[in-house]
Amino acid sequence: MLRKATPEGGSGTGYIHFSYLRTIPGSKWYGHLAGPPVWLQCHTSNTTKPCLDWLSYGQRVCRRCFSGRPAVLMGYVPIYRASDGKPVIVIVYEPQFAVIEQIPTHAKIIVAREGGEYDSQFIRLSLEQTPKFQTTLRERQCAYDLTPNLLKLWKDPDIVECYRDASHTARMHAMIGGQTQVQPTPLGKRPAGKLAETEFRDAYADLQPTLPSATKPK
Ligand SMILES: [Zn+2]
Repeated sequence: MLRKATPEGGSGTGYIHFSYLRTIPGSKWYGHLAGPPVWLQCHTSNTTKPCLDWLSYGQRVCRRCFSGRPAVLMGYVPIYRASDGKPVIVIVYEPQFAVIEQIPTHAKIIVAREGGEYDSQFIRLSLEQTPKFQTTLRERQCAYDLTPNLLKLWKDPDIVECYRDASHTARMHAMIGGQTQVQPTPLGKRPAGKLAETEFRDAYADLQPTLPSATKPK
């Protein structure tokens, strides 16, 4: 029987279930940044997923690149909604990059959307920083890494493999020593290798049957 992860993060690794939230046009709400936004080059046709060619530094062919719509820079931002503490993901685009990258984890933010149907959501640091972020939940006390959540949401074995390769490469470089130049990872500032094995296993729980064995030599 397949191992199942629960929304409460029964795995014990601090996994938190985040769900997408689309701000209603003309409305705004408050929240606290849960961790660093994950910026990726994504194709938005049909379903939104990262460009495989970009993600793998050109090592893999991306079928979506041939669909005619080029990949665009998108940010997946993890937020705890202030009204009820619900963990949500808000998607933002390139013009927001500079603003959001300046916001520290757990800072109070405003998420808003102008009235037009095609206006996108935007995030700003709230001028009012009280009440400060408070939690008794241990997994919320540090910056949350959204990567395992995104892998689950995308449900794409090719993307999972890509991250597994990146993690493997980063670990190899770490073992060899500091002499080797590690390429910057598309995950942003943190190297993919920081994702612990257990987190990988949990993130891939639903995808395991399509993946080669973790111990298989590459
Ligand atoms: Zn592509």
